[in-house]
Amino acid sequence: MSDFTMTIDGKGVAGEGAFGVINPATGQVFTQAPECSKAQLDAAMDSAQRAFRGWRRDEDKRRQTLRDCANMLKARRADLAKVLTQEQGKPLARATEEVIGGAVWFDVTAGLQIPVDVLQDNEHGKIEVRRKPFGVVGAITPWNFPLLLAIWKIAPALLAGNTVVLKPSPFTPLTTLKLGEILRDVVPAGVLNIVSGGNDLGAWISSHPVVRKVSFTGSVATGKKISVAAAPDLKRVTLELGGNDAAIVLPDVDPKKVAEKLFWGAFSNSGQICSAIKRLYVHEDVYPAVVAELTGIAKTVKLGDGLDPETQLGPINNEPQLQRVTELVEDAKRAGAKILAGGRKREGGGYFYEPTIVTGISDGTRLVDEEQFGPALPILSFKTVADAVERANATHFGLSGSVWTNDVERGKAIASELECGTGWVNQHLAIVPFAPFGGSKWSGIGYENGPYGLAAFTELQVINSTKG
Ligand code: NAD
Repeated sequence: MSDFTMTIDGKGVAGEGAFGVINPATGQVFTQAPECSKAQLDAAMDSAQRAFRGWRRDEDKRRQTLRDCANMLKARRADLAKVLTQEQGKPLARATEEVIGGAVWFDVTAGLQIPVDVLQDNEHGKIEVRRKPFGVVGAITPWNFPLLLAIWKIAPALLAGNTVVLKPSPFTPLTTLKLGEILRDVVPAGVLNIVSGGNDLGAWISSHPVVRKVSFTGSVATGKKISVAAAPDLKRVTLELGGNDAAIVLPDVDPKKVAEKLFWGAFSNSGQICSAIKRLYVHEDVYPAVVAELTGIAKTVKLGDGLDPETQLGPINNEPQLQRVTELVEDAKRAGAKILAGGRKREGGGYFYEPTIVTGISDGTRLVDEEQFGPALPILSFKTVADAVERANATHFGLSGSVWTNDVERGKAIASELECGTGWVNQHLAIVPFAPFGGSKWSGIGYENGPYGLAAFTELQVINSTKG
């Protein structure tokens, strides 16, 4: 029996089956999560469909509900953060930030307007464009920021008047289940349903006849499957997918000044961030100094169990991901790359991989071309900015990128040449709740956050009336 229940029609529901959840700091199963059956998913969909009829009608109530959700998160931050660290691996301080970030997202979203555009208002009549909800949204999330990324979907979907059935990753279901439990007190029955299970459950959601919109965050491979599953029913989709972000460092930077920011741009959450720096292109004049600084930091950061307050970097979340990072680094070694820090799994239990700095590597190597999604950073050098931009853009990915320079205007001009959804200057991972976030090319379709993210949970309706 699990301590965690799904939320279906406002009630706590045990699964018809159960599956183990592993603490990545130990590599051991520490609790069970409910496994949702097809019949239970149907019940959740049914409940969401019924709740939609009333939920769509009262915008003020929806706004207030989001604010109540924010307050519940703040009040229960300690419980949520601890579970998040146990199932995801991140340091407790970072887990707490994720919970607080979720509250901020609820609050900021609650303040967004659902605009009505008046296109004509004269003696001939009035033409208004209104934003209407779709109905039931099927939401599917990954394991790197399970709580925050769920809230990126729940908050705007609910504000717009939709109801939601959400499924977290089987690697990190617990925080999201707990969120469902906590919010039962403030969200009306059926409006937010949380179900847990494996990849099949995701496939059932993305092809379920009740769902009108699928909002997905995860890998490119799964995103493509979801597109296919949603197509026969013409379900709308938002896809937030993988990235292989390049950061370009110009010769005018002070290596000491930028090193910490570059390091955390790549290694935060042990590199398991869709928009982390995954390839670093450094001008040859500052290359040795930047490499030396980053290597120094990589060798001194404290890797450990996220519940230890000293820990700066936690483990990789799961064994397949640990194997993937290992495989990409071993492939780089075989291609002649130099490992200046890390390059191996830490001895003992848990999925710990030492923060790894790789040089002597070229484009065309798997660690550079593929998304590693882990703590291993390839650092490459360049001679001309044009060459760096071309190499940064030579990929199917297009999530984000950054340029590092003392000349901010030049940095902005170069950032605008990057083929990606967000171009940062002198920062990376600066994600805010009021700006759109999304990818170009294979990194996604559509946007989340702020007014653009809210718009993604609505469709337009024109009301065209005569005068009088
Ligand atoms: P994943 O695609 O393996 O799984 C994500 C979710 O999809 C999980 O809940 C999983 O159970 C479900 N799923 C798997 N197969 C499915 C199917 N056939 N149909 C429907 N659902 C299915 O991704 P992951 O390994 O959990 O997450 C890592 C990936 O997510 C990385 O590529 C990362 O870059 C990406 N990501 C993107 C963003 C973004 O905002 N762009 C944010 C975080 C993570």
